[in-house]
Amino acid sequence: MTVVFSGEVTCPVCGSKTFRYVELLYETPFFGNVLIQSGYCSTCGYRLFDVEYAEVGRPTRVIFTAKDGLDVAKSFLIRSKTGIIHSPDLGFSLEPGTHGDTFISTVEGFMYKVIDYAERLKLLEPEAAEKVDKFISTIYRKIEEGGFTLVVEDPLGKSFIMPYRQETVRVEHLDEARG
Ligand SMILES: [Zn+2]
Repeated sequence: MTVVFSGEVTCPVCGSKTFRYVELLYETPFFGNVLIQSGYCSTCGYRLFDVEYAEVGRPTRVIFTAKDGLDVAKSFLIRSKTGIIHSPDLGFSLEPGTHGDTFISTVEGFMYKVIDYAERLKLLEPEAAEKVDKFISTIYRKIEEGGFTLVVEDPLGKSFIMPYRQETVRVEHLDEARG
């Protein structure tokens, strides 16, 4: 990963010079060169996040298996507006729309986000609290130990995982015939 630009610039929304902007170039083995743009304005709260490809994005499914805590702590997850993230073994799914924010985060940071969503669910559905608490303690354990799978699907191919170890990721292009 190469930092192309990092600094405070003029915010495109409020005009203050408090827009912290970072551009990263990442050479993916699966997607070619990817330019990641991320920014946050501390004055007005404007957030920017985008992923640009040298090539046109294709519908993709990225299957990531965290073998241990190191994979969790050191792999990065990039989620665009169109990305769906689910875990078949942990039993959760984040859809665009309801959880539509874009982000770049470590897988660990993402798992804490999942815990936040679960905590919110507990407020909305107190009768499910016991079940949700069990889920939350499982997530805490998996952050430490790994041993779970995340599947990231994106019709525009703009969501993916930058793994700490390459062999933990498998990519399928959904516009190709399986075989
Ligand atoms: Zn601003």
